[in-house]
Amino acid sequence: MEISFSLVCPCNGKLYKSAATLKAHHKSQGHIIWEQNKDQKDLTVKINRLENENGHLRRLNILLMEKISEMKLI
Ligand SMILES: [Zn+2]
Repeated sequence: MEISFSLVCPCNGKLYKSAATLKAHHKSQGHIIWEQNKDQKDLTVKINRLENENGHLRRLNILLMEKISEMKLI
């Protein structure tokens, strides 16, 4: 198994000389803020997807309830 490790941080695209300097950068304010913004964006995307899914399931539920009601009338 090949293990690869990038010393480039995606927050700024900079190449760090070692894992230690990259780790130190990860503790910097700029990186932490970038990470929080990224987490916020990821959560917003997840919320939107779940809201869409919820809306779809609600519409499907209404449709199925209508079908069940129609079947009871027959
Ligand atoms: Zn960074």
